[in-house]
Amino acid sequence: MSVKKIIFLNQKGGVGKTTTAVNLGSALAQLGKKVLLVDLDSQGNLTSAVSADNRLPGTYEVIVGKCSAKEACQSTSVQNLYVMTANINMAGLNIELVDQEMREFFVKKTLDTLGSEWDYILADCPPSLGLVTINAMCWAQYVIIPMQCEYFAMEGLNLLMRTVSNIKKSLNPSLKVLGILFTMYSKRTKLANDVVEDISSYFSSLVFSTLIPRNVRIAEAPSHGLPINVYDMSSSGAKAYQKLAQEVVGRVAKSE
Ligand code: ATP
Ligand code: MG
Repeated sequence: MSVKKIIFLNQKGGVGKTTTAVNLGSALAQLGKKVLLVDLDSQGNLTSAVSADNRLPGTYEVIVGKCSAKEACQSTSVQNLYVMTANINMAGLNIELVDQEMREFFVKKTLDTLGSEWDYILADCPPSLGLVTINAMCWAQYVIIPMQCEYFAMEGLNLLMRTVSNIKKSLNPSLKVLGILFTMYSKRTKLANDVVEDISSYFSSLVFSTLIPRNVRIAEAPSHGLPINVYDMSSSGAKAYQKLAQEVVGRVAKSE
């Protein structure tokens, strides 16, 4: 079985990309998969969510050739879950890459040196469609689009779908949207239900049937440096990410 490469994409900020990368990753690790989380965001939220050391070589050093991808994989407190960290150095990368030849393929060139020991590699993208994000799209097979159940979500979604489809046509024919994921869902809110219904009727089976609830335990977990399934296994958030992991495994298997 070959490694599955997934990115979390939405140019809108604060929609749950990082939260989903960490917690889906940890849920997959709990299913016995060997998972690497790759932080591509200079904010380093994914890195701190698993309390990894961002002073050690991470994604930036790998991309600029200062260390090998393998050397930059750190273990976490969760069995089977590893991380390649990011720090503020990543902030300059869009500019550093811009004059390089094959500038869209630096992430691919480096991450594809990682061997088949991995079951899943999950990369967390910054909230922009800049060159680092384009690099991520040129490397990945699958895109998961986390989105909040709010009015402006739909507008951003069309641009995002177009961007993915352009990259697929021009730079990475293997790229595919694995699903749209609703995050921070409150079932008692009419707007949330309207948005879920609207987007589901338009994108039908592309929408994951798992809805991630708004859950305070999910928001607390990163401050303890733990994924939700370790921080509070019995929370509604942990259960939702466990269900999502099963759905992702099923969708990936079906698409191969
Ligand atoms: P950015 O675009 O800045 O990288 P993001 O898309 O990665 O943001 P997150 O950082 O994952 O978004 O989430 C934004 C905020 O919402 C965080 O404070 C996070 O803890 C909180 N949050 C995410 N999901 C949930 C949830 N299901 N319930 C409650 N809070 C949540
Ligand atoms: Mg983030």
